[in-house]
Amino acid sequence: MSFDLAAIRAQFPILSQQVNGKPLVYLDNGATTQKPNVVIDAICDYYRHDNANVHRGAHALSDRATAKFEGARESVRRFINAGHREEIIWTKGTTEGINLVAFSWGRDNLRQGDRVLVSTMEHHANIVPWQLLAGQTGCELVPMPVDDRGQIDLAALDDLLDERVKLVSVVHVSNALGTVNPVEAIIEKAHAVGAKVLIDGAQAVAHWPLDVQALDCDFYSFSAHKMYGPTGMGALYGKRELLQAMPPFMGGGEMIETVSFAGTTYNALPYKFEPGTPNIAGAIGMGAAVEFLESFDRKALAEHEADVLNYAVERAHQYEGLRLIGEADHRAGVLSFLLDGGHPADVGMLLDQQGIAVRTGNHCAMPIMQRYGITGTVRASFALYNGRDDVDALFAGLDKVKTFLL
Ligand code: PMP
Repeated sequence: MSFDLAAIRAQFPILSQQVNGKPLVYLDNGATTQKPNVVIDAICDYYRHDNANVHRGAHALSDRATAKFEGARESVRRFINAGHREEIIWTKGTTEGINLVAFSWGRDNLRQGDRVLVSTMEHHANIVPWQLLAGQTGCELVPMPVDDRGQIDLAALDDLLDERVKLVSVVHVSNALGTVNPVEAIIEKAHAVGAKVLIDGAQAVAHWPLDVQALDCDFYSFSAHKMYGPTGMGALYGKRELLQAMPPFMGGGEMIETVSFAGTTYNALPYKFEPGTPNIAGAIGMGAAVEFLESFDRKALAEHEADVLNYAVERAHQYEGLRLIGEADHRAGVLSFLLDGGHPADVGMLLDQQGIAVRTGNHCAMPIMQRYGITGTVRASFALYNGRDDVDALFAGLDKVKTFLL
């Protein structure tokens, strides 16, 4: 495979350190990915040379900051192939994007008797906002069942889809199981009954090219920090005609056109949804992360990542005492498992002692844990800088863990 892992790892300064006296093996990319030099430099350069508030336009620094900030928006637009730059709303992450849709579109459009469908494998970020909204509007949140392998039951979805369903909000790639959901089919089915569709893309965007126009989703929410960008930064894509019709989510500066005590008029998209001084450095960092990803042959990248995950799955199947949680036909990025006789928290701690970083627990997805009758798993999650050597290190680490568990 023409994929120079050493050269890629060299771009991530954090990866070359030792943890607990061992070379770091970072397998917690589902929680957050590491940042390459180009992203770190873009953020530092902005603060060193260009720092000013944006859209205030009275001086050179502000002009430069605005150009970088809006240039990053254009990079994100291109990255997901949105048709218009005003369809890209800056957020602080996937969570805020979903809340924006819930409390702007949802509060405006949902009534008693209406339904929002989510899957049982959602992150809490795609459950709790709808529960809050249900409490305020009387709409109902209905979970779609998931089969034993961790796949949405599409026949059950057909049964649930009727004119009461106004929104289907579903995760593209599950952070707890790694399942890649058939979002194309779900969008088509939902649209057939007139429902809108929101996709939680937090775990998807880093893995393969996204085309929101081809997908025809109504909203798509994602975070910079899961695609090699900074934390506390993200973007919400929404179809322009929907965003135009939606009321503001939060009020303040930037999002207004005129303010008086007689009444206030709102700014045009995307600013209507961006009150206050934005995370300018975050947006610039996210733009740099997009350009970093675009510098790769994305097909080769996806093949490399699939090779590493398939290798991990193969090894897991052969590994005595290991039970995989989530065995979907189509998956990405995540190996979630239990080890006989080892509480996930203990396994995680014993791996950490060997320099291997994984996540343990319910992964902010308690309902899917309840579906499997467990309280948590050990999760190894992979990024483009991981290789088969990291998988070997994980299983060698588990061999050691087992000796402690005996
Ligand atoms: N959805 C999924 C599937 C996630 O994995 C995460 C992050 N773990 C989120 C939503 C929330 O993302 P953020 O914390 O960046 O808002």
